[in-house]
Amino acid sequence: MTRELTHYVGGAHVDGTSGRFADVYNPSIGEVQARLPLASGDEVRRAITVAETAQVQWGTTNPQRRARILNKFVELVYANMDELAALLTSEHGKTFPDAKGDIQRGLEVIEFCVAAPHLLKGEFSDSAGSDIDVHSMRQPLGVVAGITPFNFPAMIPLWKAGPAIASGNAFILKPSERDPSVPLRLAELFTEAGLPDGIFNVINGDKEAVDVLLEDPRVKAIGFVGSTPIAQSIYATAAANGKRAQCFGGAKNHMVIMPDADLDMVADALMGAGYGSAGERCMAISVAIPVGEKTADALVAKLVERIATLRVGDGMDETSDFGPVVAQSAKERIEDYVQIGVDEGASLVVDGRGLTVPGHENGFWVGPTLFDNVTETMRIYKEEIFGPVLCIIRAKDYEEALRLPSEHEFGNGVSIFTRDGDTARNFSSRVQVGMVGINVPIPVPIAYYTFGGWKASGFGDLNQHGADGFRFYTKTKTVTTRWPSGIREGASFIMPEGS
Ligand code: NAD
Repeated sequence: MTRELTHYVGGAHVDGTSGRFADVYNPSIGEVQARLPLASGDEVRRAITVAETAQVQWGTTNPQRRARILNKFVELVYANMDELAALLTSEHGKTFPDAKGDIQRGLEVIEFCVAAPHLLKGEFSDSAGSDIDVHSMRQPLGVVAGITPFNFPAMIPLWKAGPAIASGNAFILKPSERDPSVPLRLAELFTEAGLPDGIFNVINGDKEAVDVLLEDPRVKAIGFVGSTPIAQSIYATAAANGKRAQCFGGAKNHMVIMPDADLDMVADALMGAGYGSAGERCMAISVAIPVGEKTADALVAKLVERIATLRVGDGMDETSDFGPVVAQSAKERIEDYVQIGVDEGASLVVDGRGLTVPGHENGFWVGPTLFDNVTETMRIYKEEIFGPVLCIIRAKDYEEALRLPSEHEFGNGVSIFTRDGDTARNFSSRVQVGMVGINVPIPVPIAYYTFGGWKASGFGDLNQHGADGFRFYTKTKTVTTRWPSGIREGASFIMPEGS
């Protein structure tokens, strides 16, 4: 039977009243398993009112007490990990261990946010003027919103909610319509952990809901993650409405393979980084750049060998390496790109189209796909495919391999495999990409560092989580103090100097 989902506002589930719904699929069997209400403008405005009221007390709650609630939340999520991961797999399609990783990475940011009492400390200067001291403080913004993509339905909402809540804001999450059940369960667990009602809210919806979050002056900041055209337009609208915004977009991540690299290590790395989670990761490697023909020929042979052993299947089947893609429309888009690559003249070495999985004939399957001899002008190189499709561009030398990711429109992640420290150092210093890996498949997010791409992969000037998360969700106030000390200088009409 199809489940009917809700919103979560003020510490409780709230039925949708707009009369508009979206279908939530199980991508492994291609069937609708839930109906999701899409919020009207009035429903969003009501949630903002609830959040605004709740924030007043939360914003002045001692940060250590706020942190204790986050600690309890982490405990509860661990205790419910298997149930959450299975729910995530059923709507997203990624494998059960991968779903656990999605939740775990989100929790790591919450664990970092438990350090809020330290991270929110201001600065103090003694005697900035005669008998004058100056200090700064970080204060919450008020009501803030997060708009998140389908591909990490636990991790990315927690990246946004953690620093927002720990800093004393009330948070409204607008998760993806494709896999909203885990965010709703996380909302229940926040309440169970003792978070006051109205501090973590989930509004399900589409553009109509997002437009209200962007327009309502009570929402002070927008954190977005998703595709580049939407990221760019949300950033522009939020800025035009005087809001703080950080909007992260799409990617085309390259891996450079130098002739001295260990090619077995590289081929293993490319299996996970290229095809894990069906390539639906913003940090997936979608372009491999072997340097020199000899490197390229040897690498392609090793990739073909390994691809033949990959198993695509239901996410709960422990023998599956990766699961279905999220939607029928995603499957069609990816298969269209494969045809575009063929038409553009790339060599299709492994074709993942037309895959069926016995017992799951209606699932949204795309098998691992490999293109060789891709060139810079092809659409399959320039555009984000967001599926299990790996393109090989053969570079003649290091400088060409460095130029390709540096000049690409996107600048999220990149990696290089080499045994030479000099080359690695030169690469990490010169490449025009936000996150760099050296002999690792891709730099994964680390909670206590920041995460964010360059160029068309990120709009705004602060990254996600790490110290930037706290900067984004707080405003700084500077206080200048002098206590009467008996000195009387009389009125002065000139600008006082620092000295
Ligand atoms: P998407 O852009 O379709 O949707 C993201 C969010 O925006 C969803 O909540 C969706 O409901 C909302 N949305 C969609 N259209 C909208 C519109 N016209 N107006 C307002 N809101 C709208 O992205 P997706 O398909 O869910 O996610 C995949 C994309 O996310 C890929 O491009 C991927 O690279 C990117 N991504 C980037 C990062 C990063 O850190 N840079 C991380 C994860 C995913």
